[in-house]
Amino acid sequence: MSAHPAVARYAEHLNPAFVKLLGAFGYGRVFVRARGATLWDHEGREYLDFLAGFGAVNLGHNHPRLRERLREFLLEDAPNLIHVGPPVHAAELAAELARRADPLTLCLLSSSGAEAVETGLKLARAVTRRPGVVYCARSYHGLTLGALSVTGVARMRAPFAPLLTDCHEVPFGDLEALDRVLSRRKVGAFVVEPILGEGGVVLPPPGYLAAAQELCRRRGALLVLDEVQTGLGRTGTLFAYQAEGFVPDVLVLGKALGGSLTPMSATLTTPAFHARAFGTAERFDLHGSTYSGNALACVTALETLRILDDEALVRAGAERGRRLLGGLTRALAGHPLVRAVRGRGLLVAVELGPTDQGVLNRVLPGMVEAVSRRVFGQWLALRLLEEGIVAQPATQAWDVLKLTPPLTVSEAEIDRAVTAVARILAEYRDLPPLLRDVGRRLGRQYQRGWPFG
Ligand code: PMP
Repeated sequence: MSAHPAVARYAEHLNPAFVKLLGAFGYGRVFVRARGATLWDHEGREYLDFLAGFGAVNLGHNHPRLRERLREFLLEDAPNLIHVGPPVHAAELAAELARRADPLTLCLLSSSGAEAVETGLKLARAVTRRPGVVYCARSYHGLTLGALSVTGVARMRAPFAPLLTDCHEVPFGDLEALDRVLSRRKVGAFVVEPILGEGGVVLPPPGYLAAAQELCRRRGALLVLDEVQTGLGRTGTLFAYQAEGFVPDVLVLGKALGGSLTPMSATLTTPAFHARAFGTAERFDLHGSTYSGNALACVTALETLRILDDEALVRAGAERGRRLLGGLTRALAGHPLVRAVRGRGLLVAVELGPTDQGVLNRVLPGMVEAVSRRVFGQWLALRLLEEGIVAQPATQAWDVLKLTPPLTVSEAEIDRAVTAVARILAEYRDLPPLLRDVGRRLGRQYQRGWPFG
């Protein structure tokens, strides 16, 4: 592979360890073009994007209508960052979000998912005047100090301790544990994802979220639902809570809201909660930032919402999701190293790991488990990349391969991905071939001095 100047620059000025890690397996590709669900690398090879920005590229890359709207906007002489009057584009976006999330009709805008989670935490504190927060094990809410304090991943938290105090972890799906903390502490917020995304695409038991909302209500805490990953059609409904028969007190959106072109996130709540937190002259400016509600990001988000509607992408995503889940379920049935195929909408996962059928697993169960957890998911992702499909394991559960293509993905593209996953996994029905192939690759990379590509 020829060198692309971005590799050395990125290693020198942004993230040296990341570039080295890519070189361990010889992962290296530099992507230079993207359209719909298709990516191209700097050597002209074509890929299907089944990562889609960790579920942010719901419209597909560079959606033609979104691009046209932005082109138009840039020629409009629109005012931006004025701050002494209500910004026109933010007002229009908030009204459109409110219409979709009613009764959560008040909105705070920000740029990243983590910031929008922070906003939810601050809102809950200001409303309830209670310091405590409950969050779930294996949850992911972002990497700012507040969001990290409610993220259930020890590795990410450890270097930054001490984090916010009075944050309590409970198992996802465990109502008794939740109620135990709610009844003993002064808890202002329960922060939860509708489906654990980065924690491995874990679906809650039926009725869990609605019952948790009820418990929160009874105990005086707010339920802050983090739909940064699940929102805007990813799971087959516009918001995942719409499939769960309840409405949260606070809804957090990010990722796909920015149409994959501009950073944009939002925290929605009811007029009553918003009024309690920010509804006076003393309090109206307690939360915000310079670029929150900037015109470019708001126009992008507005057009993104309209495209989702006009192209019926939520329904399309639900249908494609059923095809992906069904196809993988059939293709991988009975595979000795596939524990589960699960998901909702286009948030689909294959959990790798020994079922009790594997030969080696009966002899060396601990080793099979460890290899599955640490290596298998990344190896599968690498092999997929080499077959022209971009996908990754869940960032906090490397034994779970996630498949999250744009909602615009075609049936043929879904079928191609299913076939590729099945074909590669057919080579690894037990551990020895996997260990042999991984060993060979690492050996080759070592001999070549761990090159990027
Ligand atoms: N919440 C969830 C559920 C997420 O998946 C993520 C990002 N993966 C975040 C919050 C953080 O969003 P951001 O990276 O934009 O800060």
